[in-house]
Amino acid sequence: MRRIGCHVSIAESITKAPARAKELGCEVFQMFTRPPQGGPAPKITPEIAEQFKLEMKANNQSECYIHAPYYINFASANKVIRATSAKNIREELERGSQIGAKYVMFHLGSAKDMERAEALKITAEGVARVMDGYKGSTELLLEISAGAGNIMGDTFEELKEIIKLSGYNLGICLDTAHIFASGYDFRTAEEMGKTLDAISKTVGQEAIKLIHANDSKNDLGEHKDRHEHIGEGKIGQEGLVQIMSTFNLDLILETEHDKVEQDIRILKAIRDDLSNG
Ligand SMILES: [Zn+2]
Ligand SMILES: [Zn+2]
Repeated sequence: MRRIGCHVSIAESITKAPARAKELGCEVFQMFTRPPQGGPAPKITPEIAEQFKLEMKANNQSECYIHAPYYINFASANKVIRATSAKNIREELERGSQIGAKYVMFHLGSAKDMERAEALKITAEGVARVMDGYKGSTELLLEISAGAGNIMGDTFEELKEIIKLSGYNLGICLDTAHIFASGYDFRTAEEMGKTLDAISKTVGQEAIKLIHANDSKNDLGEHKDRHEHIGEGKIGQEGLVQIMSTFNLDLILETEHDKVEQDIRILKAIRDDLSNG
């Protein structure tokens, strides 16, 4: 759909998020539903869920997305951490279903002192555990990572393997800064074509469901996850033009809020150019 928005704060209550998003110029938005670094999840009562949906309507948003907390680790050697990760993501899916969120995306985690094959296997088992018996409406997306250290899921091959092993047909959230850090170039039509080939040969283009649109402070293949404002990093505006002309998907910015409104305006301008050209 190429609706454009950003990650917004849920300070005080999730019901405040839609108006905050609108204020920044978002047509769609993303949020956490719980503290991302840890701590209990604030309860979503039926009243809060209803209020949230009314706020979205009042602010002209028909879709929203949930980013899972950061402490999730499906590749941990510690069974308790893996079990808690699965429980938390399942809760996010259930909470998302309560408020009508379309997707929950999450970072797979990091494997330390473990064979890659074993790490892939236990990660897929964790994902399957999340999905087992799930009947809600919110869909789960695996987010491709920048691949720092032993972080899982930094290539489309690996994501394909995890999806296959899990036995569930899950989608992918493509973060432009992450794939760039992982070594996928898309700054020219030719490079975009090669990256699209890599996607087609693995997960398939239809598996990509959502774009995290971020420029990158670090260069191609540096495996560092540092977001930059659109056009001010190593990707540049042309890279976003290539992404937007390739994927007809919603785009969520995860850049600092000092200039996120400018980032939103840039992406809207790129979209207008594409539809006029
Ligand atoms: Zn993320
Ligand atoms: Zn990132």
